Amino acid sequence: MRPLQVWLPTLSTSLADRAVFAAVRTAFQAWNGESIVWLLPGLGGPTQWTERESQRVLAVPAAHVERVYVYHVGENGWVWGPESMNRFPGGRVEGLLDTWINLWEEKGCTFAPMSDSYVMDVPAVEDGSLQMEGQTVPTSTPVGDDSTPAQCALYRRMAVPVRQKFFHLSLLPYSLGVQLPERLAGLCPVGGSIYEIVAQKKTKQIASQSVTDVDRAVWQAKDFAPPYVTEGRATREALWLWPLFMASQAAGLDGGAVVLDEIEIRFGLRFRDLDAAKQTDAWRRTMARPEPVRRVWGPIGLFAALLLERLEAGQAFRVCERCGRVISGTRKKRFCGPRDSAACYRQRRAEDQRRSRKIRGKQLGR
Ligand SMILES: [Zn+2]
Repeated sequence: MRPLQVWLPTLSTSLADRAVFAAVRTAFQAWNGESIVWLLPGLGGPTQWTERESQRVLAVPAAHVERVYVYHVGENGWVWGPESMNRFPGGRVEGLLDTWINLWEEKGCTFAPMSDSYVMDVPAVEDGSLQMEGQTVPTSTPVGDDSTPAQCALYRRMAVPVRQKFFHLSLLPYSLGVQLPERLAGLCPVGGSIYEIVAQKKTKQIASQSVTDVDRAVWQAKDFAPPYVTEGRATREALWLWPLFMASQAAGLDGGAVVLDEIEIRFGLRFRDLDAAKQTDAWRRTMARPEPVRRVWGPIGLFAALLLERLEAGQAFRVCERCGRVISGTRKKRFCGPRDSAACYRQRRAEDQRRSRKIRGKQLGR
């Protein structure tokens, strides 16, 4: 797959608020390999520091607090970043798009009153040094005074195409959240919101479009993706080396030895260990050199990018003729396989067996 850089905000995914969008863009521009990014009110300008020996942090000025973790997905689908094994199921993105598209077909996804505040440790500069202090922060950007839409309007608006109404959704009250299935829970902000719901619906609609017209679906996905999918930059170390390290470790190999071997094979560079290697000019030229990457913001951006990736490869989705679920597979595939929907697959097998018993019965003249 095409490598990705994934920014996962803690509080809110939406970029509909202009002030939030501006702060996020400032962070995109100032970012230089940090794994944690803070949007912080009261900050004079972009600031960098290091936590717990090697965790690099960036903070940029903003109207509202937000904490973002930055991950990199290699072409092998493995994810590198803070606690990536917990945030992404098994440390990988495989199968996530299908779970997202069939969100409402899965059990375990429920609406719930959405918390409008969250307590977390936020960095603050005191007496010239940095302190973490507990703060209660809003989980969504405040709505304007001119917005008092009825709750039922929320449901009506869910049904409209995202492109037409998306930015009007910032006027909605933030009283409703969605609790996601376990596999997706690590990707979404604490509240969950209408933005994810609308984006999920749009993602599924585009996937369904690809059943009859892949080219049109690609065009729709490209139209839908920004500003949640943009062009960024990352290093070969983040996009290639660490995902390879993760995959090697998971396979029971010594990840450090594997990547050092691969560096020698690919680039003709022999290093004894990674720490020493990082101090060399050769490392800076090959591994630490910036290259373009598809950058995504939150689950909305991640699933838009995974959809785009699949459609651009010409892989249309199918619709199961039995249950109507949008599934992955070749043109010949007509029904859910065991990985699409275990229930649909089991029921169809049971029906097939009943049918074949009947046919056998007839042949035997019973
Ligand atoms: Zn099915």
